[in-house]
Amino acid sequence: MNGEGIAESKLVNLSSLSFFQNLRTTRTKQFAVIGLGRFGRAVASTLHKQGYDVLCVDADEEKVAQILSDRIATHARQIDSTQPAALREAGIFEQDTVIVAIGNYVQESIITTLNVKEGGVPHVVAKASSEIHMKLLKKVGADHVVFPEHEMGCTLARSLTRPGILDYFELDPENSIVEVIVPEQFDGKTIAELRLRSSYGLNLLAVSDDGRFEINPPPGKRLEKGTAMVVIGSNQNISRLPV
Ligand code: ATP
Repeated sequence: MNGEGIAESKLVNLSSLSFFQNLRTTRTKQFAVIGLGRFGRAVASTLHKQGYDVLCVDADEEKVAQILSDRIATHARQIDSTQPAALREAGIFEQDTVIVAIGNYVQESIITTLNVKEGGVPHVVAKASSEIHMKLLKKVGADHVVFPEHEMGCTLARSLTRPGILDYFELDPENSIVEVIVPEQFDGKTIAELRLRSSYGLNLLAVSDDGRFEINPPPGKRLEKGTAMVVIGSNQNISRLPV
């Protein structure tokens, strides 16, 4: 979920308001990343830059050495994550959130996810590389499964067809919450005047105001083109919004 593919710099800045990221913020402080491929490294590096403690593990000694020399992780260990004893010894079971970033080795990814859940980690996020992999990860207890190639493909397609969409949260296949640029046609109009519910079947949840979101804005609030608004509704109704 993001605003990739949006050319205008003004729009790119708006996406950094990160409405959905704010919603997802948890109090998690301790993370572990298992598997240091491109995906795992990106997760570890971003968490580390945000000031979180990140424990990184991989079966490949070189990848572990690399992450330490690049100063991406607080701690890094070489272990085989299919071995519960190795996970325990490395301290993986004491983490709040563990990211299983093993995409290509399906068997190792499934066994690792099962081990980590059985070890008592409250929040396990696992990376899938196919639909069936996704199903298996859910079956063994992953709390959240990501399929980055699929998700990026969908996001790209959306941003190509609806450039005003900054962020997207799919509630089910038919309904979503989206963060969109306020269309030119809405500029200077109040929320009451726009009658989003009766005209478009959408509910307005928030509008951006000076770098922050105002949740449940009052009906008299005037919208400004180029700022962001967050609406909830069916995908069909969302696609009826003017660009
Ligand atoms: P990328 O992110 O680079 O596109 P990926 O996420 O699909 O790739 P993989 O190629 O699946 O990554 O491997 C991720 C890492 O997982 C590799 O560095 C690999 O050494 C590590 N790995 C694989 N099996 C195990 C295991 N049993 N224990 C620990 N690490 C493992």
